[in-house]
Amino acid sequence: MPVRIVVPKEVAVSERRVALVPETVKALTKSGSLVAIEAGAGTAAGYPDEAFRQAGATVETDHAGLLRSAEIVLKVQVPTLEEVEALRPGTVVVALMNPSRSLERVAKMRDAKVTAFALDLLPRITRAQGMDVLSSQATVAGYRAALIGAGLLPKFLPMLTTAAGTIRPAKVLVLGAGVAGLMAIATARRLGVIVEGYDVRRAAGEQVRSLGAKFLELQINAEGAGGYARELTDEEKKQEAEMVAKAVADADLVITTAAIPGRRAPILVREEMVARMRPGSVLVDLAAETGGNCTLTQPGETVVRDGVTIAGPLNLPSQLPFHASQMFSKNLQSFLALLLTKEGARVTDYSDEVLAGSLLVSDGTVRHAPPADLLRGGT
Ligand code: NAD
Repeated sequence: MPVRIVVPKEVAVSERRVALVPETVKALTKSGSLVAIEAGAGTAAGYPDEAFRQAGATVETDHAGLLRSAEIVLKVQVPTLEEVEALRPGTVVVALMNPSRSLERVAKMRDAKVTAFALDLLPRITRAQGMDVLSSQATVAGYRAALIGAGLLPKFLPMLTTAAGTIRPAKVLVLGAGVAGLMAIATARRLGVIVEGYDVRRAAGEQVRSLGAKFLELQINAEGAGGYARELTDEEKKQEAEMVAKAVADADLVITTAAIPGRRAPILVREEMVARMRPGSVLVDLAAETGGNCTLTQPGETVVRDGVTIAGPLNLPSQLPFHASQMFSKNLQSFLALLLTKEGARVTDYSDEVLAGSLLVSDGTVRHAPPADLLRGGT
């Protein structure tokens, strides 16, 4: 029996992405899967219903009915309580789950006996790179952040020599040089600016320099487990703050992307540092969703303090929904290759490292320790 894969329309406010795009649907239906898409699911991302039909999907209008009929549900955002209610026990759900911040929904999925895979828990090993939704969406976010900054600046970014005089190039500082930060650096470089980058991981220095930017050096290496950053000691934080404060004061545009998985974003730019920035300067805080890298950031808002514009945009990938969805969909296609056998049936053995690592809920049990512990403590 072919497996029935369902893609509902995203219900989260201002979510414009869709989990699958027609190109992936075509590949799935060709290999024998049935794909059902909710009407209008791809419209905001630039994928009309007709394109899904032509790719072999059925387009259906009943949101709850679609969920009830699914064997596999593919979503961008963690399912809502109402969506989980519509699912039958044993349904597989794959989405970005944000587990520690979605405890009520995780508990609901546990009680509904669905099988939930969290794309945000995928092990970041070489074999899983093609499925790495965090990287693909961070690429989009970094690109958008550079453009938002450029749009808010009252200045040109590149150097210009014109009959009306010479314009000096702007200075851009990118704090946090992971996937998003590197994309912000690359985008800013393409706009012709002088860019400086900084990260607590020394390994990031080489990547920053390879993009033609300068790397700010601090004599510490804070690379922790799995290639992510560890938290800094108090003395290290002081040294970092002094160096960062100087660079911030000198920049026209500051883009901050620093994050520590599962924790509040580190504070890198304090109020007194913003006060030292030139009027007209701009700070784009990509970490707004997890508390912000700047103490003045208002998540989801753009505020002006001492003449400095501070933007705290949320869900940036949704602002570039066509390509964000295309990349997300390609990631899902790779993930489904592990979840389906060659004959198109669902696998039931989740011992594969990638499946096991991303398995959030199965058989009425929360499999990922942090939300499981929080739920035990909270109920
Ligand atoms: P992230 O979003 O968790 O963090 C963003 C950046 O903030 C990181 O580079 C981190 O080092 C930095 N940071 C944290 N605290 C900071 C501070 N106090 N000051 C300055 N910077 C700070 O990270 P990410 O972008 O998802 O990826 C982190 C690393 O993992 C990168 O090196 C990336 O290339 C690597 N990665 C590897 C794979 C793989 O398949 N092997 C896949 C994706 C990412």
